[in-house]
Amino acid sequence: MSGSDHDFLSRARPGVQKLSPYQPGKPVEELQRELGLSRVVKLASNENPLGPSPRALAAVQQALLNPLELARYPDGNGYVLKSAIERRFGWAMDRITLGNGSNDVLELVARAFLGEGDDAVFSQHAFAVYPLAVQAVGARGIEVPARDFGHDLEAMAAAITPATKVVFVANPNNPTGTWFEADDFRRFMARVPSHVIVVLDEAYGEFVDDAAALNGFDLLDEHANLVVSRTFAKAYGLAALRVGYAVSSPAVCNLLNRVRQPFNVNSLALVAAAAALEDDAFVQRSRALNAAGREQLLTALADMGLQAMPSRGNFLCVDMGRPAMALFQALLQEGVIVRPVANYGLPQHLRISIGLAEENAFAISALQRVLARADAAESPAGAGA
Ligand SMILES: *Cc1c(COP(=O)(O)O)cnc(C)c1O
Repeated sequence: MSGSDHDFLSRARPGVQKLSPYQPGKPVEELQRELGLSRVVKLASNENPLGPSPRALAAVQQALLNPLELARYPDGNGYVLKSAIERRFGWAMDRITLGNGSNDVLELVARAFLGEGDDAVFSQHAFAVYPLAVQAVGARGIEVPARDFGHDLEAMAAAITPATKVVFVANPNNPTGTWFEADDFRRFMARVPSHVIVVLDEAYGEFVDDAAALNGFDLLDEHANLVVSRTFAKAYGLAALRVGYAVSSPAVCNLLNRVRQPFNVNSLALVAAAAALEDDAFVQRSRALNAAGREQLLTALADMGLQAMPSRGNFLCVDMGRPAMALFQALLQEGVIVRPVANYGLPQHLRISIGLAEENAFAISALQRVLARADAAESPAGAGA
């Protein structure tokens, strides 16, 4: 019997059988190859348009001066990065879990706490990795309806069952850009049973420019069940290197590290992230560029009669007022890659990452052409413009 005679699908675990893989943004090179376009602008994956932190880049270049290090396994404890995090935020190393991207950390939580018969709670329109990670380990996801596209924390607390072991929340959330206030989150934490793990995903925290905004680190000492995750992929510009981390109580950290691969973060990522943490100037520049680009896009979108959700991230979730997939395809033809979010239950929206000013302008003019063509195609022939 040849391997192809097996029905491997039916042999996979039930949760895995029903999984549909995470859909990444289309790579620039692929689109260029397919369409022979001279310019492609990718505003699809919330990457930093400034590139990596210069300090991180210098640290990687320095590390490569000793190429033997690439032949060795990385430090499985991530000492250099953990001590940089400790220096920066004061967290002892026994509270820090490093991940191959913060995505990895989210999966560590699922693997450490969830299995068949367990529940995990997350919001409608929340980051796609939460349902994926939950389903992959055979647990049941409870999706709580959003309120104004954002997390309804009261409803989420009420949705917790005796079988609930983990709640995932994102602040700001991707793909909506929505956020919740510190007071609302404190009330939420007071309602969540203290044996239920709450993952507060702050992947876009560095872009938030409001002193009164929720900072998950402020609540960690009050709540042993709180896990705050952060990433170097977004504001620090290190998406390709894959590095993120969680801070939690030592007890939870210990459990996360039991299921972690021994060498989950590579050595270049470790040195880059440690250097990036000290690059305040770069994060400030990224935040300012993002704020200006957000205004630029919001103004242009409003001129086109389009509305975006209020966003604290480095992206906008825009209501196109019609099924968005055709517009996404038409934008590709123009060399602009954005993100359709139908898989997030938002079939009329497109998520547009905020780029450099000229990238935003390129995307806006492409969108104007695409919408003009779509309007013309919809209006009856001869009815004029
Ligand atoms: C991008 C993102 C992450 C994870 O990014 P990594 O590259 O894995 O660090 C986590 N949460 C949200 C909400 C994100 O948008």
